[in-house]
Amino acid sequence: MVKETTYYDILGVKPNCTNDELKKAYRKLALRYHPDKNPNEGEKFKQISQAYEVLSNTEKRQLYDQGGEQALKEGGLSGNGFTSPMDMFDMFFSGGPFGGSRRGRRERKGKDVIHQLAVSLEDLYKGATRKLALEKSVICDKCEGRGGKKGAVENCPTCRGTGMQVQIQQLAPGMIQQIQSMCTECRGQGERINPKDRCKTCNGKKTIRDRKILEVHIDRGMQDGQKIQFTGEGDQEPNLEPGDIIIVLDERDHPVFKRSENDLILRMSIDLVESLCGFQKVIRTLDERDLVITVIPGEIIKPGDVKYIIGEGMPHYKNPFEKGRLIVQFMVEFPKSIPPEKIPTLETCLPPRGETTIPENAEECMLLEMDPEAESRRRSNQHRNVYDEDEPGTGSSRVQCATH
Ligand SMILES: [Zn+2]
Ligand SMILES: [Zn+2]
Repeated sequence: MVKETTYYDILGVKPNCTNDELKKAYRKLALRYHPDKNPNEGEKFKQISQAYEVLSNTEKRQLYDQGGEQALKEGGLSGNGFTSPMDMFDMFFSGGPFGGSRRGRRERKGKDVIHQLAVSLEDLYKGATRKLALEKSVICDKCEGRGGKKGAVENCPTCRGTGMQVQIQQLAPGMIQQIQSMCTECRGQGERINPKDRCKTCNGKKTIRDRKILEVHIDRGMQDGQKIQFTGEGDQEPNLEPGDIIIVLDERDHPVFKRSENDLILRMSIDLVESLCGFQKVIRTLDERDLVITVIPGEIIKPGDVKYIIGEGMPHYKNPFEKGRLIVQFMVEFPKSIPPEKIPTLETCLPPRGETTIPENAEECMLLEMDPEAESRRRSNQHRNVYDEDEPGTGSSRVQCATH
């Protein structure tokens, strides 16, 4: 059991979550709250980063689980001990299949633009092409990125072309101090465009915002979190190689199938009579074919039994004719009750029951119904942070399932 859940809550995950779930949660939130997209959510962006920094590190996570934020502080991780949220973001998104040392190229290269693209499991199964409308900075056509007419560029009159301003401050009589700072007029460029020659199209900014349609090809078998890179399609700036546009795929949950790498998992509910007497069921695939599965009479499917079909999972990336497994997990719906007069007939069909011997002084007891909702409320009130179950889903729905 963990002491505090704040960091888990920030990322919207449960304290028993896996590293992959953490990564996915961070990826989604960091892209949503990145200052480029959400300039007013700086504090939130920082919290997401810090929570991820702690929880993605096994030692720090252990420390936090045991003693909460206090333990981290005592371990020297607080305030300035954290990686800056921007560095964290860069490290996270520059890893992966197209990773590289983005840091080294930063001088010559403009900023990369990262976008998240929601895709369905069908898209990833069948492949898809998406058109994405994006806004980006492009070099102004009218002035060819000069910001004004040819020859309109002149030495900045304020700094005389040095890009620096020198201020002299008198500290005491006979004692002066020189302070150098960047020239505010030309922003350190040393040159400026005479206001009367300024380009009307870009207002002297050298770039304009432009709408661009990107065609994104989603290949069969691509994965959640996979990046598709458009080299040189990022924002343009004069004298800089443009950055890249990076599309990060965000796989949406599917109502029927759950993906586990190249396998698909299907939870199938069958009736008690089917579990005992055999059945046929139809499974609609992601590319809209119908598969029939048959359990012959005589074979029994127990609740929780798992079977699989070869070659009906997700296509392998770059090798789409190879496919994973379709794994079927069976759940058995029991009847609420059985008419008592039918019981003797039923008993003749079932394996005979074992003998129960009741000792002489045995005490007769009442069996009462548990109310799972009241139970989970009581538990969460007693100690607020109980997340020790291993199954997916919330605590209360897990208990509910058990009663069916
Ligand atoms: Zn200047
Ligand atoms: Zn212009």
